[in-house]
Amino acid sequence: MKAIVAGAGIAGLVAARQLGLAGWEVEVLEKSPAPRPDGYMMDFFGPGVEASERIGLYPRLAAVAYHVEAVEYVDAGLRPTARLDYDQFARLAGEKVLSLLRPDMERAALAALEDVPSGRVRVRYGVRVCGAWADEHGAGVAVDASAVPPPGADLLIGADGVHSEVRAHVFGREKDYLRPLGMRAAAFIVADPGLNARFANRFLLTDTLDRMAGLYSLRTDEVAAFLVYRDANRAQGDGQPQSTRERLRREFAGLGDAVDRLLELCPEHPYDDVVAQIVMPAWHKGRAILIGDACGAVSLLAGQGGSLAIAGAALLGDLLGPVDSPSGIAPAMAEFERRWRPVVEEAQAAGRRAAASFLPTNRTQRLLRRWIIRGTHLPGIDRLVARQIVGRIAK
Ligand SMILES: Cc1cc2nc3c(=O)[nH]c(=O)nc-3n(C[C@H](O)[C@H](O)[C@H](O)COP(=O)(O)OP(=O)(O)OC[C@H]3O[C@@H](n4cnc5c(N)ncnc54)[C@H](O)[C@@H]3O)c2cc1C
Repeated sequence: MKAIVAGAGIAGLVAARQLGLAGWEVEVLEKSPAPRPDGYMMDFFGPGVEASERIGLYPRLAAVAYHVEAVEYVDAGLRPTARLDYDQFARLAGEKVLSLLRPDMERAALAALEDVPSGRVRVRYGVRVCGAWADEHGAGVAVDASAVPPPGADLLIGADGVHSEVRAHVFGREKDYLRPLGMRAAAFIVADPGLNARFANRFLLTDTLDRMAGLYSLRTDEVAAFLVYRDANRAQGDGQPQSTRERLRREFAGLGDAVDRLLELCPEHPYDDVVAQIVMPAWHKGRAILIGDACGAVSLLAGQGGSLAIAGAALLGDLLGPVDSPSGIAPAMAEFERRWRPVVEEAQAAGRRAAASFLPTNRTQRLLRRWIIRGTHLPGIDRLVARQIVGRIAK
């Protein structure tokens, strides 16, 4: 059995590994020339933990995890206004929580392909899928003129993220499925030993209105940054900044010297995208199926994108792995959607709830957030925070 996977992100790599282990031949096409370095800290908890333990990926993830002591909201001088101890967060989220840099997670999934017998999974970087087709007999893709397209396959897996081209070609226009949550998020890594030394082991978030900067010191001399801001804040018309960096400098001016320094070192075109969910009535069509953010992005507000990407891809591998003739593909895809959709929809609902309070618009909302975080040791409040964080009340 042969599969083409579009996208070598976390979901695509895990799906490829699981199918390869089951005996499929898999070709993964990734438009970036190499694994993407774009990075931010992700809290890895929920279904991905159980799934990664089951498929043997967890030790690789745990090996690159960071030790975070606390999440702190801070003022412009980096003084804490509210603090959540990480052990407490882990308890609320269900004990096992890893703090992982997104590129480290992707690299761990890539390295895990060495578990697959040689030759079964081929990853081709620098090959962009620019067309896709699927019917009940098979599927295939078109790629940029600079590359040779793979021959048609039994199955096409679209794991090419929120702006999936497989989705656009097989299922329909992005605007029919993309649900923006009113914000944008940028993420990048800068090298600065001085800044790195100022907040080791604490994940800092600025306690600001309508925008928020997050900072975390890495093992190297680097600092990972993520910036969330209202989409409506974007400068319009005359004077609109040319580069992403210029826009971020405008949006995040006046948040103190640490954020100023981050923006001084910010690359010209860092990762910067709309914060959005993908909501679709069906995830498979003909012999094509979408996984990860391509069909069910929950947004960073749900904090589970990486976890769901792994768990969903592992489940797809469980269901498709034993399939040894094309006639088994459609039932396996239908079963995948039946079992996985409720999990994704629950996380999406949590993401939408979090969107309402993620960026306070006034001082009262900000004060409320501080009180809630300070009160997380109280029964009741901790369950409220847990529901915000994990989308269900932690037992
Ligand atoms: C700022 C921020 C913070 C986040 N924090 C968290 C968090 O705390 N916890 C968490 O779990 N999740 C978090 N997420 C979400 C998480 O990163 C994603 O949900 C997760 O990585 C989904 O993986 P994916 O493989 O489906 O998609 P992606 O990671 O988007 O991978 C898709 C891949 O496909 C490639 N591609 C795209 N188009 C094509 C094409 N046409 N041809 C070939 N290749 C293509 C892309 O280059 C990419 O490598 C966060 C996201 C952001 C933006």
